[in-house]
Amino acid sequence: MDTLFLSDIHLTRERPEKLRLFIEFLHSPAARRAAAVYLLGDLFDYFWLGNDDHTPPVPQILKEITDFTRSGSKLFFMRGNRELVMDRGFEALTGCIMLDDMTVIDLDGRKVLLAHGDVLCTRDVKYQWYRRFMELGFIRKLFLSLPYVLRTVLVNGLRPMMRRSADRKPPEIIDVDQAAVEDAMRGNAVWEIIHGHTHRPAVHRFNLDGHAASRYVLGDWYQEDSVLLCNGEGKRLMSIREFLATS
Ligand code: MN
Repeated sequence: MDTLFLSDIHLTRERPEKLRLFIEFLHSPAARRAAAVYLLGDLFDYFWLGNDDHTPPVPQILKEITDFTRSGSKLFFMRGNRELVMDRGFEALTGCIMLDDMTVIDLDGRKVLLAHGDVLCTRDVKYQWYRRFMELGFIRKLFLSLPYVLRTVLVNGLRPMMRRSADRKPPEIIDVDQAAVEDAMRGNAVWEIIHGHTHRPAVHRFNLDGHAASRYVLGDWYQEDSVLLCNGEGKRLMSIREFLATS
């Protein structure tokens, strides 16, 4: 049975072709018969505003995910840095199962650590402060308790500042830190990790305390449309178009 991992789809009305592709994926027999689909964060493009966001394409995405889970398919959702304030109400809305960042699952008899990937970018100290702040329960509650319009104003107001700060960062700062990866794997007693966030799809093989270890990095859906296909034959990073055409 296939298990599928996707991340950084960044759905927005500015890229309707990717929205169509995501919907095509959810409707495909290959996705419906998979053991599970894991969305490892940043499904939405800019900033998740709350379960009452009715701005297109949010309602359409929620409806498609709901149809997918209602058909009996299993969908797991991990929050990315675009969804830091998302609460468990999203499960009730869509029928998905939300996972905490850094969750260990059993995949075809092997333990695998799942992460969005941002917490592993420890060299970006400012970002880690921002993330810890946003993760505080009372900050999330406070933000979500604001009227929708005020949340929109706040997020749109912060947008240019966050863009400027992201543009100024050198590439090695926005990649994961190998020592942080190894610590996380050691701490969770796994030899495999799957994450996204960095938009640098690759399979990294390395030695961890004498064991063969692997780090699978999912790609984004800006230029590409990446998926990690896992089954008895192994793990394969591929394009969703290729996956849909061949399965
Ligand atoms: Mn991300």
